[in-house]
Amino acid sequence: MKTLLLNSIKKAADLILKGEVVAIPTETVYGLAADALNKDAVKKIFKAKGRPNDNPLIVHIADFEEIYNFTENLPKEAEILAKKFWPGPLTIIIKKNNIIPDIVTAGLDSVAIRMPDLNITRDLIKLSGRALAAPSANLSGRPSPTTYKHVLNDLENKIPAILIGPDCTVGVESTVIDLTSDPVCLLRPGKITAEEISGIINKEIIIDKSVNNLISDLKDVKSPGVKYKHYSPETRVILVETDENKFAEFVNSKPECVAMGFDEDSRLIKNANFISYGSKNSQTQQLSKLFDSLRKIDSYNAKIAYVHIPANKKNLNLAVFNRLLRAAAFDLIKI
Ligand code: AMP
Ligand code: MG
Repeated sequence: MKTLLLNSIKKAADLILKGEVVAIPTETVYGLAADALNKDAVKKIFKAKGRPNDNPLIVHIADFEEIYNFTENLPKEAEILAKKFWPGPLTIIIKKNNIIPDIVTAGLDSVAIRMPDLNITRDLIKLSGRALAAPSANLSGRPSPTTYKHVLNDLENKIPAILIGPDCTVGVESTVIDLTSDPVCLLRPGKITAEEISGIINKEIIIDKSVNNLISDLKDVKSPGVKYKHYSPETRVILVETDENKFAEFVNSKPECVAMGFDEDSRLIKNANFISYGSKNSQTQQLSKLFDSLRKIDSYNAKIAYVHIPANKKNLNLAVFNRLLRAAAFDLIKI
């Protein structure tokens, strides 16, 4: 099939109502959306991405009241968090009712819900009158797309259409917080941090062990998405935890490699191909440039990409570290 590039939400809404999938912009990453209550449409998402069936999707809504369509008992933390962070990059997990098809939640008794902070996305949800189930619009395992061109690279001729929007401003997927567990648990780090959430609900939050640990060590995985190798370029990625000078010395001795690091690293790197993922002092830049930088790695046809991680992680957002660990399949060396 030929993938249409759409500038109008009307055409995108028509496709959604016909049971088709459409790639859509959001503030976090581009999503691959379908009517959340149409099983056959949702199946097409898994097929186009090559996504394993046990990896559930996030349901996107445009008005807070819609959440009551999908659950019988909403915890009070959900209301408090929505008031503070919605629309925005926070996904909450709550108990689901029978309206949500099993395919959306991979058979779990909970559902993930978010209200995106891009007007185009909410306008599309309102115009179609449908909640949209949507994972990131990449081939399964690849870095998430933050521009419509990234989506084209992965899914051209595999999906009917892409709704063109701005490049994603946040740049990593939403924070996922599980309100069905006690204590409340952070399943996936994102721009909104566990500390911010904890301050708002006035409760301790635990960080799920999958966030920073090797996937194969986990017997009891809470968020099925974390089981899979993720966010990976074709090129092998190795993280190098060290300071600026030692990183430069290390990659300068390996002229065939790609080096990915901070703006501040670039002046020290003489021999390697260099990609910057933002200033070492700006978490916002690191978040928004991360996936584009990971995608650029493959254009050098190198055997290995070394990614600089600071020894002091004070200024490295947990979301960036978490995605890089997975892109590197937990391959990390300390110098
Ligand atoms: P993606 O939309 O591609 O960012 O993937 C959605 C993420 O949300 C995956 O990591 C899922 O494992 C997670 N997720 C979705 N629904 C649930 C749920 N009911 N319980 C736990 N994690 C979920
Ligand atoms: Mg994804």
